[in-house]
Amino acid sequence: MANIEHVVIIGSGPAGWTAAIYAARANLKPLVIAGDGANRERMPGGQLMFTTEVENFPGFVHGIDGQKMMGVLQQQAERFGTRVLQNFVTRVDFTARPFKIWHINDLSGEAETQVLAQAVIISTGASANYLGLESEKKFENNGVSACAVCDGALPRFRDNPLVVVGGGDSAVEEGTYLTKFASMVYLVHRRDTLRASKIMAERALSNKKIKPLWNSAVEEVLGNDNDGVTAVRIKDLKTNATSVIECRGMFAAIGHTPNTAFLKGQIDLDPKGYIALKEPFRSTTSVEGIFAAGDCADPIYRQAITAAGMGCKAAIDAERWLAEQGID
Ligand code: NAP
Repeated sequence: MANIEHVVIIGSGPAGWTAAIYAARANLKPLVIAGDGANRERMPGGQLMFTTEVENFPGFVHGIDGQKMMGVLQQQAERFGTRVLQNFVTRVDFTARPFKIWHINDLSGEAETQVLAQAVIISTGASANYLGLESEKKFENNGVSACAVCDGALPRFRDNPLVVVGGGDSAVEEGTYLTKFASMVYLVHRRDTLRASKIMAERALSNKKIKPLWNSAVEEVLGNDNDGVTAVRIKDLKTNATSVIECRGMFAAIGHTPNTAFLKGQIDLDPKGYIALKEPFRSTTSVEGIFAAGDCADPIYRQAITAAGMGCKAAIDAERWLAEQGID
């Protein structure tokens, strides 16, 4: 008879590691399938692996490097007996119990393997959308960011002009937030109206430090290795005229994509692909025994600390559900 895991945790950001810490301390010997690192979306540790300093996670007076933080959380989870597989989940079958999960490792060339689980916690996170420019990639973490709350307070951005791209709530929220640090925030949007909620849009547009650049798109991020971003070249989409805006940073705020493609047809997702939680304040999903935590189930807050809190809830929900099933 094949081995059946009590709890398999898919994903290894703050939600996954926190779920693992709680599940391990509840003696559930969780198995974390952490990602195989074959690309950015499959990186063990998730989005924080691409963040420099995390200054808003309680407990770190002077902040902590994102990668270091993920390493510490993993060690904490392992200390209580968590097992970690650096593989990537390709597909799942949640139609019957035990649940089936298939995983591979594209870096080592390991073929697809199946694992069985009584309960599953999904914490696969979300990926920030970027414009997709070569130059944008080149300056990532060197002036290009997709998270103002994570990076906005860095010294490089202080008292300097910054560019935010997008026209939704994220863009106006990030733009408004960045006015605390920046000398000026240029809001580059491809239309002449914002799609952000009225109140947030009005707040942003009445802020003297925010200058909207309508019908505009960033064509290229300019800079050098030493200084990072120094400017962006933008194109007026109505006239095709280009101009250079001097700035020390560019923040992409054009939405996130939850990493849930492998779940289609297996559990309920909302229209944007976020896992639909069954009950408010819980981690339960449309399938009994499958729990969700972190950015893959959170279209609103998307913070490390909220993900960690959701991971804690998912582990407690899973533990109680397993006990109700008489599985210990
Ligand atoms: P969003 O509402 O989907 O807006 C994305 C924005 O980026 C749109 O203005 C879109 O332009 C633009 N965009 C998309 N792809 C682009 C590209 N390739 N190049 C240039 N521009 C591009 O995403 P969001 O602002 O992240 O918000 C997501 C959800 O979270 C929303 O439901 C929002 O209400 C919610 N949210 C809420 C809060 C809050 O309440 N405090 C804060 C943040 C987010 P178009 O307008 O032309 O499509």
